[in-house]
Amino acid sequence: MPDTIPASTAATTASEGGAQLRLVIDALPGLIAYVDRDLRYRFANARHSEWFGRPGQDFAGRTVREMLGQELFSFIRPYMERALTGEKIVYEHTYAYRPNFVRDVQVTYLPERDSDATVKGIVVVLEDITARKQAERAQRQIERQLSLLVEASGKLLSSPDSADVLRNILDVAEAFIDADAYSVWRRLEDGRQWQIAAMSGLSENYSNSMTDPEGIAERLPRTPLPVEDIEKAPFADLRREAYQKEGIQALLAVPLQIRGDLAGSLVFYYRGKHRFSELETRVASALGNLAAAALSTAEIYARQKELRKAAEEAERKAQFLARAGQVLASSLNYEETLAAVVDLAVPAFADWASVDIFGANNELRRVSLKHIDPAKIAMGEEFRRRYPLDERDAGTLVIRTGKSILAPEITEEMLIQGARNAEHLRMIRELGLKSVILVPLRANERTFGLLSLVMAESDRRYTEADLAFAEELGRRAAAAMHNAHLFTESREAQEALRHSNDELQRANDDLNQFAYSASHDLQEPLRILSIYSQLLHRKYESRLDEKACEYLDFIVEGAKRMEMLLRDLLAFIQAVNIAPGQMPLVDLCAVAEKAIANLKSAIIESEAAVSYSELPSVRILETHLTQLLQNLIGNAIKYRGKEKPEIRIGAKREGAAWEIRVKDNGIGIAPEYQAQIFGLFKRLHNRDQYPGTGIGLAICQKVVERYGGRIWVESAGNGSGSTFCFTLPA
Ligand code: ADP
Repeated sequence: MPDTIPASTAATTASEGGAQLRLVIDALPGLIAYVDRDLRYRFANARHSEWFGRPGQDFAGRTVREMLGQELFSFIRPYMERALTGEKIVYEHTYAYRPNFVRDVQVTYLPERDSDATVKGIVVVLEDITARKQAERAQRQIERQLSLLVEASGKLLSSPDSADVLRNILDVAEAFIDADAYSVWRRLEDGRQWQIAAMSGLSENYSNSMTDPEGIAERLPRTPLPVEDIEKAPFADLRREAYQKEGIQALLAVPLQIRGDLAGSLVFYYRGKHRFSELETRVASALGNLAAAALSTAEIYARQKELRKAAEEAERKAQFLARAGQVLASSLNYEETLAAVVDLAVPAFADWASVDIFGANNELRRVSLKHIDPAKIAMGEEFRRRYPLDERDAGTLVIRTGKSILAPEITEEMLIQGARNAEHLRMIRELGLKSVILVPLRANERTFGLLSLVMAESDRRYTEADLAFAEELGRRAAAAMHNAHLFTESREAQEALRHSNDELQRANDDLNQFAYSASHDLQEPLRILSIYSQLLHRKYESRLDEKACEYLDFIVEGAKRMEMLLRDLLAFIQAVNIAPGQMPLVDLCAVAEKAIANLKSAIIESEAAVSYSELPSVRILETHLTQLLQNLIGNAIKYRGKEKPEIRIGAKREGAAWEIRVKDNGIGIAPEYQAQIFGLFKRLHNRDQYPGTGIGLAICQKVVERYGGRIWVESAGNGSGSTFCFTLPA
C-alpha cells in the first residue's frame, strides 16, 4: 500500500462518492474508512461496518467516538491525532469488535494531504491478523513450555538414582500435562513383557504388568500415540479390562527410546474423552525424550556404580591378599602367621574365621579362632571342644578331598540335618552361621589344614567370587606353611650335617694323631728289626741253613717295605695338616735342581734326562714343592718305557695361578685310571713290577689342594707317556 493517497484520487473518492467506486471498496475483504480532521467518518466500507456490529449503518458524518464508543475511542484517539500531524501510523491491536468476535488487527492510518500540504483527513485500513497472532501465540506457548521442560530436565537428569528419576518423571509430567493419571512402563529384557515402573493417579490394583506376545508395541510408530477413544487403541485388547476398571477413556502413550531401543513408555490417562492438542503431543513427546534420557543416565549410573563397587571390592581383596602375603612372609612361625591371617579376615571378610592344622600326631588342631565380638570366641571354642571335627563335618570332607566348599545360604533345614543332637543344634544356632566357606590349606599335594570363613551377624552372604578369593588366601597360607616346613627341615638337616662334620673332624684329628704317632713310633722298632735281622744274617750265616737265610731275607725285605710305607704315610699326614695361608715366593728352578739332586742315583742309573726352562716363582713352602717335584720326577723315572726316560718341566700362566707340567715318555696311563691314581694306596701295578706304596700321588694331591690348586694327569694311554699338571698360586 502506498504511504499516502494522491490528493486528486482521494478528493474524487470523497467528494464524488461515485457508486462504482463504492461498490469496489465495499467488495474488498479488508476494512477501509476515511476520517476527517474532526475525527468524523466521511466513509466506511461494508466490511468495516459489519465488524463493528453496525451493518447497513452509514458511518459517514458520524464521529468516531459516537460510532466506536468512548473506550475504544480513547485508545485510538492519540494514534489518529498523530496521523493528523502528517505521520503514517501502523499499530497492532486486539479487540472484541462484537460479542465473541475478538480479532487481532493491524491498523494503518494514512494521512491525506491537501494541495497546501495540510492534512485533510486519514484513510483507515484494518487488516485481520488473528490467525497469524494465534499461531505466534501457540508457538510462544510451546516455546515457553519447552523451555520450562528444559529447566525441569535439569532436575530429572541430575538425580542419578533410578527410583528418584521415575518419581521426577511423574512430577514433571504432572506439571506439564493435565491428565488424570500417569505411568511409566518399562519393557523387560525378553521384549514381550512390560511392567509399570512408576505411576500416579491409578489405583493399586491397576495391573502393573502386561504381556505383549505379538510385539504390538514394538511395531507401533516411535512417536507419541494419542488415543482419543480407548476402544480403538491398537493395544486395547491387551488392557481392556484394566482400562474399564480405572474408567480410562483416552490416553496418550509416548515411547521411551534408550539407545534406539523401545525401552518403555510414558502414558497419560484421561477418565473422559479427550482431544489432544498439538501442544500436548509436542510437550508429551519432549517429556518422553527427556524421561528416556534420564532413565538411560540413571541406568548407566547404576551400572557404573555396580562396576565401581566390584572394582572396589576387587581392590579391597587384592589389598587384603597383599597384606596377608606380607604377614605370611614375615615369619617362619606359621602358627603365629596363620593366626595373623585369621585376624585380618575378621571383619573384612568374615564374622567368624578359624584355621585348623594337622599336628605332629596327625590330629587336627585349631590354631586360631576369631569373631568380630571377642565375647563370642569363648563360645566358639567351647563348641569345638565339645564337638571336635568328625566324619560328619563338611570340614572333614574338605580335608579329605582337598576341595573347598561354598554354602552361600545356611538354611534352618541344613542346620537341623547337620545337628548331632539337640544340644549340638542349639549351639550351632547360637553361633549364627548364615553363609560359609571352607577351604583346604594345600601346597605341594599336601593338605596342612582347613581355613573356615563364616558370615553370621553381618548378614552378608558369600559368592563364587568370595570363594575364589578364599581359595587364593588358602593357597598362600599353605604355601607359607610349606615354606616354613621346608625351612625347618633344612635347618634340621644343616644341623645334622654340622654335627656329623664336627664328629668327622674329631675322628680325623684322632686318626691323624694316631697315624702320626704310629708311623713315627713304629719307625724305631722297625729299624731295630731290620738291623738285627741283617746282623743275624751276617754273623750266623754259616750256621743257618739255606731256608733260614731265605726267611731272614724276607724279614729284612718286609721291614724295609714297612719302613718305606711308614715314611710315606708320615709325609702324607704332614701334607694333610698343612695350614693354609699366604706363602713366600720360591724359585721353581732352584727347587727343581734340588729335586733332581735328591734323585741323582736313580737318574744316573736310568740314564734319564731331566730338563726345564724359564720356570717362575710360586707361593708354596719349599719343602712341599721339593716333595711334589721329587714324587713326580721319581714316578716318571720309575714308570719309564723302553726308551731312556726324558723328562721335561714347564710352566704357563693361567690367570692368578701357574700351571706346572712334568712331562715324561714313560708307559702312560689309560684314561679310565687317570682319576683314581691320586687316591691313597691306589696303584695300577703290583709290587713285583714296580715297587711302591701308592701314597706318592695322594701326597701330591693333598699338598696342591692345601695351596688352593689342583692336580691332574694327561695321557693318551699305554706307552704314550704322561704329563702331570698342577696349579699353584702365582
Ligand atoms: P706308587 O708310585 O708308590 O705306586 P703313586 O701314588 O706315586 O704310587 O702312583 C700311583 C700309581 O700311578 C702308580 O702305581 C702308577 O701305576 C701310576 N703312575 C704314577 N706316575 C706315573 C707315571 N709317570 N707314568 C705312568 N704311571 C704312573
